[in-house]
Amino acid sequence: MSLNDLEKRLSGFRRIGLATLPTPLLPLKRLTSTLGGPRIWVKREDCTGIGMGGNKLRKLDFVLREALAEGADTLVSGGVVQSNSQRQVAAAAAKLGLACHLAVYHGRVPVKTVDYESSGNVLLNKLFGACLHDVPWTGDRNAAICDLAESLRGKGHRPYIVPYGVSSAMGAVGYASAAAELCGQLGAVEGTLNAVVHCSGSGATQAGLVIGAAACLPDTDIVGIDIDAEPDRVRADVVGYARGGAELLDMDFDDSRVEVVAGHAGPAYGVPHEATLEAIRMAGHLEALTVDPVYSGKGLAGLISLVRAGRWKASDNVVFVHTGGEPALFAYRQALGL
Ligand SMILES: *Cc1c(COP(=O)(O)O)cnc(C)c1O
Repeated sequence: MSLNDLEKRLSGFRRIGLATLPTPLLPLKRLTSTLGGPRIWVKREDCTGIGMGGNKLRKLDFVLREALAEGADTLVSGGVVQSNSQRQVAAAAAKLGLACHLAVYHGRVPVKTVDYESSGNVLLNKLFGACLHDVPWTGDRNAAICDLAESLRGKGHRPYIVPYGVSSAMGAVGYASAAAELCGQLGAVEGTLNAVVHCSGSGATQAGLVIGAAACLPDTDIVGIDIDAEPDRVRADVVGYARGGAELLDMDFDDSRVEVVAGHAGPAYGVPHEATLEAIRMAGHLEALTVDPVYSGKGLAGLISLVRAGRWKASDNVVFVHTGGEPALFAYRQALGL
């Protein structure tokens, strides 16, 4: 299969136009020389536009066509207090003129500062007009979201459920478009692209990259860094969404291409450790690149660790997908010692 063929299949799923695309592909020269190679590039999926951007907008662009087709008047989703996903759902709802109700899970992340509870994504959710419903974290990612939608339906609303992390087979189709887009930008890169590295959580980002890369980047490893401290669960979810996404695109799927790297999540989801903080500081000092303590900072920490372990040669090319999350930097001010 070729890029052309993938693009043709993707064009059967017209996006609604929430994200500003293509996102830039840029060299990180000072990080590259500090680490002594490989050549590191960044794909700025944090720069997708509305609501301070991030990787969920690309998924929502495909997933929300169904909400509009159904005549939904309300988006319902959820996530932890500082969830980037629910902030992007809130942004999409504002842009589309829909109401937004969010189940906010308390207790998954053991951080209790005033900044965590009120700054960053929390402030933005409110600014975008979302209605926040506090619920306890039970380990079931979607139960409280479904309950909330049910109670809104009972009150006469027409809710559309956006799953936790906007991860679904259609979300994976959305992310296959990022692989196609990256493939079209490789004129800037000398030689082959050896790997794409990014952090993986609810799974559809990696699922989409894997099915897209199978079509147009056959020599490129897709390396997901587990940031949930649940690498087996992450891999199983990636495989499931990739299989579903490949089916929608009428493509074959080979799960041997799904690589989820453990050991960089720190003690728990949402808790940064020293390697995360080092990655955040390096990105800031060397590249004025802002990565966050929950997702992109852990993903970059994983990349730095793989580079130091000698996975790539100095002449290799590696793309770090910056999936967003910057608002959480402000929520984690104390952890950063700033
Ligand atoms: C959600 C998120 C991810 C993980 O993407 P998944 O598709 O859930 O695996 C990575 N980075 C940031 C900043 C996110 O918000």
